[in-house]
Order: sequence, then C-alpha cells, then structure tokens
Amino acid sequence: MTNIILNKLVIIGVGLIGGSFALAVRKAGLVKHIIGLGRSKENLQRAIKLGILDEFTTDYSLALKNADLILLAVPVGQIEKIFSQIAPYLESKTIITDAGSTKQDVIASARVFLPNHFKNFVPAHPIAGAEQSGSNAANTDLFQDKALILTPLDETNTDALECVKNIWQGCGARVSQINAYRHDEILSAVSHLPHLLAATLMNHIVSTSTADSLDDLLHFAGSGFRDFTRIAGSSPEMWRDICLANRELLLKQIDTYQEELARIRRIIENHDEAALVKAFSDARAIRKKWLTNKS
Ligand code: NAD
Repeated sequence: MTNIILNKLVIIGVGLIGGSFALAVRKAGLVKHIIGLGRSKENLQRAIKLGILDEFTTDYSLALKNADLILLAVPVGQIEKIFSQIAPYLESKTIITDAGSTKQDVIASARVFLPNHFKNFVPAHPIAGAEQSGSNAANTDLFQDKALILTPLDETNTDALECVKNIWQGCGARVSQINAYRHDEILSAVSHLPHLLAATLMNHIVSTSTADSLDDLLHFAGSGFRDFTRIAGSSPEMWRDICLANRELLLKQIDTYQEELARIRRIIENHDEAALVKAFSDARAIRKKWLTNKS
C-alpha cells in the first residue's frame, strides 16, 4: 500500500492537529478531497479560506460517504461521542484513525462504539504540537521530523495500519509502534506531568501573590519562566481530558514527584551542598542526553 492516494479524507476537529494534518497530506500530494466537521462554523469557514479544507458539513452521512480515511482530532473526552455518531455511516473500506494524546481510553471506546469497524481503527498520536488551538494555528510542517506513535492491536487490519503509517510518513513524521499502556505510561512522565507542573506553578504564583506583587513577579520573570508559561498556555479543555483519561498513571507520577520534591526540600533544609550539586548535575545530564538523542 505504498504511495496511497486518498480520494476522500474526513477531518473531525479542524484545529491545530487536524488542520496541520490536512495541510501536510495535501502538500505531500496524498489526497484529492478534504472535508471537515467541527463544533464551530467560523473555525471551519476559516479552514476553507486557509486552504485546509475543500468543504465542510455538519452532516455525518454526507461527510462519511465514500470516505477513505477519517481522522479524529478532537479533545480525547469527545472521542467516544464521535465514535457513536460516525458508527452508523462507516463503510467497509473506511479507515479510522485519531490523534489523541492518550491511547488506552480511546481504544477502549473504539471497542465499544465501533464494534463492526474496530479492525479498521488505527490508534495514533503525533508527538508534535504547540500551545495554540484552532484552524488558524495549523502549520503544514508541524509533523516534519517529529515522532508519530501508532498503538495497533492484534486485531488491527494490516492494510489499514500500513495506510495510516504511510500517510504520516508522507507528512514527514518518524513513525514508531508501541503498545497503548506503554504509550500512556511514557507520556504521563514526559508530557502529562510536565504540563501539570507548569499549570500548577502558575496557579501557585497567583495564589501566593497580591495583584500588585503578581505584577512585580511577572515584570521580573525571565526566559526560564517564559518556557513554563508556554507550556501552561495550552488548551484547558484538551488538558482536562488528558488528565482524566490518563488519571491512574498520572496520579502515580504525581505521587513519585511529590517524593522527589520532598527529597530536594530535605537536601536544602540540611544545607547539603554535595547533594544539591548532584541533583542539578543529574538534571543537566538528562538535558544533554535528550539533545543528543534528538540530533
Ligand atoms: P484544537 O483545540 O486546536 O482543535 C480541536 C478541534 O476539535 C476544535 O476545532 C474543536 O472545535 C473541535 N471539536 C471539539 N469537540 C468536537 C466535537 N464534539 N465534534 C467536532 N469537533 C469538535 O486541539 P488540538 O491541539 O488540535 O488537539 C486535537 C487532539 O490532538 C487532542 O486529542 C489532543 O490531545 C491531540 N494532540 C494535541 C497536541 C497539541 O500539542 N496540541 C499534540 C498531539 C496530540
């Protein structure tokens, strides 16, 4: 199934990820027609002006007729509802995939709500993103050289899997396959916890300040703080859904992180210079390793 060309691609949720996928697939010449569905007419109209979509509709039966591939790029809390809305209109050839940041919950929903099409569902997660939302944030090169994780099941149809893999590779992504539990475990540590920490740091700063002192804090905050604000600036709806969908693994991360925070607190309280240097050196070594792995 190499060099597959999609006659009809359906994007449900034409935001940063859905819009960027549409632009990238179009740029790669892998699609003839792209139709979008979403909550906001204004956002969908803008997507047409931006060349993301050829058309949009609110009618699932019309959208799904003769569809080759459907991408669900909505917050993960919406996916169950959308599976149940699309299920009556799915054709046997239609492949369904998603971009959700959590995978076990999405797969569990697909099992229940897509019983006749579960083998045609290919769970996916692009490890690429930004703090902006909506179709105006879409970027053709968002997935270029970025990781894309597929978490197929034993039941997943191999042609469907190959198709989704080829399309993402056509968008410039580096595709990997792991199981859904491992995906959620990894992402809880390197994505979900860091986002939670950035958000709670902002809230901590507000809750321990008066309006005047907050202005002072923000006035003198430097580039390290800016990096935290960028992470904390992501979509609240998206992050609510991710935290709840990956609740158990995230709670484990929070518990072990609290132990780490208590440990560093003791080190500082005890004026333990050597332990502090070691803590910062270990952290620095991780950054170096991460940069080396990325290059
Ligand atoms: P976004 O807010 O930019 O876009 C989501 C779109 O879905 C919006 O246009 C919204 O109106 C639409 N939508 C919401 N509920 C809907 C419904 N019930 N029916 C139809 N449309 C609906 O969000 P995004 O950043 O593109 O994220 C989309 C998905 O991709 C999420 O599951 C997210 O977890 C995942 N993801 C996001 C990032 C990131 O960094 N933003 C990275 C990787 C994966």
